[in-house]
Amino acid sequence: MTVLARREPLLVRPGARFDCVGDGLCCSDIHAVGALSEEDCEMLSVISEDAIDRHEGEDAAVLMMRSDTGRCVFWSEQGCAIHAKLGPEMKPTPCIQFPYALTATPAGGRISTQHRCTCRTLGPLPPVTVEDARPCLVTSDGELKPEHAVLDDVAWSSVESLSFAEYAEREAGLIGALIEGKNLTTVLEAQPFPELRDTTWSEVADELLDFHGPSRAAAASRWFGDAIGFLVDRRERTESQRPWADAFERAGERVVDPVSPNRVFGDWLADEIWSMRWTRFGSLARARVELATRLAIARRIAGWLDISTPKQDNISAAEAVMIVDVIGTSDPWEKVQEAIPNI
Ligand code: SF4
Repeated sequence: MTVLARREPLLVRPGARFDCVGDGLCCSDIHAVGALSEEDCEMLSVISEDAIDRHEGEDAAVLMMRSDTGRCVFWSEQGCAIHAKLGPEMKPTPCIQFPYALTATPAGGRISTQHRCTCRTLGPLPPVTVEDARPCLVTSDGELKPEHAVLDDVAWSSVESLSFAEYAEREAGLIGALIEGKNLTTVLEAQPFPELRDTTWSEVADELLDFHGPSRAAAASRWFGDAIGFLVDRRERTESQRPWADAFERAGERVVDPVSPNRVFGDWLADEIWSMRWTRFGSLARARVELATRLAIARRIAGWLDISTPKQDNISAAEAVMIVDVIGTSDPWEKVQEAIPNI
């Protein structure tokens, strides 16, 4: 019997925590990274003539960011103007959904969270609940809308396929060890920077460093490219402007009981695995190599942030995770995902 991917019941990853405490990071470039739907564009064009940014040569439309503040045109110190004047349900889809995501699996809909938000990665936060997440994951007609689906055949490695139930049982041990935050590279059982098909890590670094412009995402790309260049070729670092410094400074003021950087990294890795988005590119063994690579990059960036700013090292780790989470869904990194051999 074929077991299909289901949206219900909704499932929360053990240990996942989130609460919007208003650090304001999610309205600054994050949604520029996420594309608007055609429905979003129709609605926004009624509200304002200057709400949408379409990059030349690209199909995707994104929210317009103000050049002086680097934030969405609807953002102010009082919050989102659409939320205040028209209601939260009128906000564009990426804004309603952030930071939640949904993957349909044979056991139900897995709720995952993106780690590109200080309200997800820093401070004492309450557990993620189905009740809080559900309204963010439904369409305007109340349907749960998964971004990704997994069937009853999961590749643990390129030579070992498991039923979803078998996979989930093994995965629970892996996620538990990651959340504990000890010896993450050992837990991943993978070495970073594998040999790539049809490209090299030096070329990947060059492409990321070539993302110019004043946007926060461009600066994040250069931090990421610098880290690869340093780790692979011992190149000098070129970027020093922290893309989301304002939000992390604000969050730093409310963090009174810091956890270890490894817990910040482990929590992020656990969500990456739980989301199962990696199945688009091959096996879990391949995904572990990709994650070990982004972990090495995040640790390098966190080390630089620690040197350049006098703050707690878990905040540097969260800021580094922010960068590797955002660039991890960029076009250049999608190409890297395809260039990592399946194992
Ligand atoms: S539309 Fe509102 S919630 Fe979305 S990015 Fe802009 S200010 Fe933030």
